[in-house]
Amino acid sequence: MDTVSTSNTLVLGDTTMTSIVEREGPYHNPYDMFPEATPDRVEKHLADLPSHTHDPASGKICLTFQSFLLQTPQHNILIDTCVGDHKNRREGLLYPKDRWLAEFHAAGIAFEDIDYVFCTHLHVDHVGWNTRLVDGRLVPTFPNAKYIIGRTEYEYWLDWNKEHGPHPSGTAFEDCVLPIVEGGHALLVDDDFELNDLIHLSPAPGHTPGQCCANFHSNGVKAIFAGDAFHHPLQVYEPDWSTIKCSDRALAIVTRRKILESCADTETLLIPAHFSGTIAGNVVTAGDEFAFRFIEG
Ligand SMILES: [Zn+2]
Repeated sequence: MDTVSTSNTLVLGDTTMTSIVEREGPYHNPYDMFPEATPDRVEKHLADLPSHTHDPASGKICLTFQSFLLQTPQHNILIDTCVGDHKNRREGLLYPKDRWLAEFHAAGIAFEDIDYVFCTHLHVDHVGWNTRLVDGRLVPTFPNAKYIIGRTEYEYWLDWNKEHGPHPSGTAFEDCVLPIVEGGHALLVDDDFELNDLIHLSPAPGHTPGQCCANFHSNGVKAIFAGDAFHHPLQVYEPDWSTIKCSDRALAIVTRRKILESCADTETLLIPAHFSGTIAGNVVTAGDEFAFRFIEG
């Protein structure tokens, strides 16, 4: 398989994938994040995972907030847009955002060069850079892009916001999604959607009602951009651990198991939104459990 990795880039066939990081490092206590987690299981699995996935000093697991830039022969595609800047957000999301900007520009492209933005779902940490502040006004960060948003997901949050008002995490729907849709920059798509000859979207509900994966296939290289179907590699080992943030925890388990079964013991790379380190890896079966093997950086 033609897959070459450096620390933040992967060559996937004819496409270069770059992870553009906004933040990384220890983030959650695993027992707060996964109510079913027990110390014996957590310790056993963390011992099988590389050190960048957890922080023994604090006991926290590491989560990276990142976008994935796919530079294909035809298009520049950005998957998920992190938290973004200059927005009303809860305190834990107000960390500096310079790193994301620096890494985006280090990839040698400009905002104008992005053809498609795909948000796997519409949580606050996946839509942030959809817009940015220019002369006191929020404008699309990527002026020439079509923003691909699942219709199921959009309609769920539209209804949710009408009923509840702004989300406790911040006004992400109001300032990063509505202006895009109302300005005519979005393409609201079915949960099963062929974006181009390299990327096919498929439904991955549970974390949110309309989350979608991006399934990449080029010259025999396959990868699944799985959004928040997985937050941490622990969930490869324990697919029945949904997070406290999942809207339908039982459905999230079904989705996670389906993804694992589709790529276990194959060369298909699993690339969830928040994994740390070398980003991508392979799912393998170990007895009657799954395990995760990061590809070498
Ligand atoms: Zn997320």
